[in-house]
Amino acid sequence: MGMIIRKHNHYPAKDVKNYYTMIFNESLSYPRPMLTILQISALTDNYIYLLHDPESKETAVIDPPVAKPVLNLLNEQNWSLKYILNTHHHWDHIGGNDELKRANRCQIAASRYDQTRIPEVDIALDEGDVIQLGDQQLNVFETPGHTLGHIVFYAKESQALFCGDTLFGMGCGRLFEGSAEQMWHSLLRIKLLPAETHIYCAHEYTENNGRFALTLEPQNSRLHQRMSQIRQQRVAGLSTIPSTLADELATNPFLRTDCTELQTQLGLQNASEIEVFAKIRQLKDKF
Ligand code: ZN
Ligand code: FE
Repeated sequence: MGMIIRKHNHYPAKDVKNYYTMIFNESLSYPRPMLTILQISALTDNYIYLLHDPESKETAVIDPPVAKPVLNLLNEQNWSLKYILNTHHHWDHIGGNDELKRANRCQIAASRYDQTRIPEVDIALDEGDVIQLGDQQLNVFETPGHTLGHIVFYAKESQALFCGDTLFGMGCGRLFEGSAEQMWHSLLRIKLLPAETHIYCAHEYTENNGRFALTLEPQNSRLHQRMSQIRQQRVAGLSTIPSTLADELATNPFLRTDCTELQTQLGLQNASEIEVFAKIRQLKDKF
């Protein structure tokens, strides 16, 4: 049943219901239509996400560095914002907050840790909190590492993770505030989600990350396959995001600290996974 839900992700809510009527009979309750997710490019390589629940019409934006393209799209769709959600306090994730808040009279939700460094936070979020868009739930996980206040939003039914600068396509965020150990634990948390989960990160860094990954795992055929696909997408000016967690588990070196080939390549066969992770992060910083 999970597969059917995914397949019809792109249908308008009405068609999904008709489809289920045909297959499962009236007596079975319909699954809810999933969140509509729109991706907006901003600045050089940022992605902003608009999340919309088609039943309640409630809408949220995640990590807007600027307001204008968000306002345009909201206008075009005839949606208005209920929430601005911030994964962390960096300017390229919050720069559009003020203007969007004034235009929509919406609420800003961010981690409690960032309450004092993101202006006008209305809702301070902790681990385990839930943001509702209609009946759709976004679960909040704390993922310190890139910054100490970093959080991610997980939409289980829509199989989507909005992970800001924690996990990237074939990469992860730099350690500006947290330790390698903290980041490794944050990534472990993400690794345990279902492999079908779509990874909606905040930057288009995939191709550069992949070139680095190839230096660590030159024999990884999934990595070569993914890179040739990524290069084609970039040449065509297309986004490489979302990926899936399955893609990342197979190709992202920061999620592969348990891989023997990678450990050997680094001369760290007997090291802990956290040491392997720290070494990869260090090498990437200089790449
Ligand atoms: Zn950042
Ligand atoms: Fe960023």
